[in-house]
Amino acid sequence: MANPTKGEGGLSRPIRHPIQWKTEDYYKEDLIFNELERVFDICHGCRRCFNLCQSFPILFDAIDESDTGELDAVDKQNYWKVVNNCYLCDMCFMTKCPYVPPHEWNIDFPALMLRAKAYKFKNMSVPFRDKMISNTNMMGKMNSLPLIAPVVNAMNRFKPFRWLMDKTMGIAPDAPLPVFDSKPLRKRMTRLDHSHITPQATDQTKGKVVLFSTCYVNHNYPQLGEDLIAVYEHNEIPVRFLDKEEC
Ligand code: SF4
Ligand code: SF4
Repeated sequence: MANPTKGEGGLSRPIRHPIQWKTEDYYKEDLIFNELERVFDICHGCRRCFNLCQSFPILFDAIDESDTGELDAVDKQNYWKVVNNCYLCDMCFMTKCPYVPPHEWNIDFPALMLRAKAYKFKNMSVPFRDKMISNTNMMGKMNSLPLIAPVVNAMNRFKPFRWLMDKTMGIAPDAPLPVFDSKPLRKRMTRLDHSHITPQATDQTKGKVVLFSTCYVNHNYPQLGEDLIAVYEHNEIPVRFLDKEEC
């Protein structure tokens, strides 16, 4: 179990280290499991995140129900249940964890879950459902086509179709699904031109913004992006999109 006397939290701004997804070590199973074990053991001693999502209760139950009540007696297969139930909302990192960098314990739980998921997608068999719904770019492009979006949205509200999705893909019939917009943000903003606004640099910024709209805002909730751009316009901060966006 983690040593509880080794410093309690920190009040510094959380730091997220760059994700090393282009290195070979990032995908090495033994390194991933060593890190899962290190972090899970600290979480076991802390337990602040018990009520954030399903990942933490699954971890803590597995430890409590093990023979020794410690992580070393937990079957490693249970680790995957923790990973699978993390939907990468970032709440534990952003709001809860006192051990995020620069704390020496260097806990970035969502980044570790992301690494384990990346390993899984690369080396293990992944259900079609997971591949499909995690490809938000492809889903957005396909489902926000003008004639397709209203059909997809209607089908996602249609109970017999949701029953079928539940039976065939395991998507719960009452799970909220994103609505697709047939006018994505980038299309709405093709004429966005702030060349008439002169950026006012400050000590810490250049006074202008490049917007990474994200699949979610672009294809599902473009109004959010429009509102954000309106706020920048109001404050005379010029905005432009990246030429190309890809998650
Ligand atoms: S990032 Fe994952 S583990 Fe952390 S609170 Fe969100 S779902 Fe839970
Ligand atoms: S992520 Fe941090 S706050 Fe949450 S249980 Fe683990 S150590 Fe505690």
